[in-house]
Amino acid sequence: MKDNNYIAERIKELRATLPAGVTLIAVSKYHTAEDIETAYDAGQRDFGESKAQDLKTKHQQLPDDIRWHFIGHLQSNKIKYIAPFIHLIHSIDSLRLLQEVNRYGIKENRRIACLLQIHIAAEETKFGFTPLECMTMLEEGSWRDLYNIEIRGLMCMASNTDDREQITKEFATVEKLFKEIKERFFKNEESFSVLSAGMSDDYPIAIEHGSTHVRIGSGIFVE
Ligand SMILES: *Cc1c(COP(=O)(O)O)cnc(C)c1O
Repeated sequence: MKDNNYIAERIKELRATLPAGVTLIAVSKYHTAEDIETAYDAGQRDFGESKAQDLKTKHQQLPDDIRWHFIGHLQSNKIKYIAPFIHLIHSIDSLRLLQEVNRYGIKENRRIACLLQIHIAAEETKFGFTPLECMTMLEEGSWRDLYNIEIRGLMCMASNTDDREQITKEFATVEKLFKEIKERFFKNEESFSVLSAGMSDDYPIAIEHGSTHVRIGSGIFVE
C-alpha cells in the first residue's frame, strides 16, 4: 500500500493544473483496489485499465459510479468481461474489433462508446490504425450499420522518447486527423468529441494539441 496522502495530493495538483474541459483518467493498471479507493475518496471517478479481466475484478470490488476506461490492446475473446459496464473503450484498432464490440453491445442491449486508436509512434510495438488506414475504414462506411457502438473520437500514444519535438509532431498529426475526421464523417455529431492523448510524461504537450482526455498512471500512483 502506498502513501494515501500522496495519491490524493497528486490528484488535487493535477486537477488544479488541467484546463477546464480536460478529463483526468487515473490509470490504475498496476495498482490495487485499495489505491483506487484512495483516489476515489479524493474525488476521482475516471479510471483506466489495460487488462479486461483485471478491469472486471476491480469493477466488482469498487463503487458503481466509477467510469471505467479500457486503454489496452483488446482481444475479441475478452470483450465479454467489460461489455456490460465499460464507459469508454479507447483502443479500437480494426474494423473487425469494432464489429465484435458491436455484437456484445447487442447482447448487452447497450451502445458501447469507442475511440479509434491511431498509431503515430515510431515504435513498431504499438497498436492502432495508421492515419490512412483509419480514413480508409471510415470511407468504406460499413461502420455506419453498427448501431450498438458509438465512435466518440480518437486515441493515441506518442513515442516513448525525450525528444519533445518528435512528440509534438506526433500529437499535431493526430490533432489534424481528428479535425479532418470530424469534418468529413461526424460533422453534426456532438458525441464525436474525444481526443484521448497524453500520459504522465507528455500530457502538457498533448493538451496544447487538443487533447480532451489525459491518461495518467505513474504521475498519480508512483512516488
Ligand atoms: C499505462 C498507460 C498509460 C499511463 O502511463 P503513465 O506513463 O504511467 O502515465 C496511459 N495510456 C496507456 C495506453 C497506457 O497503457
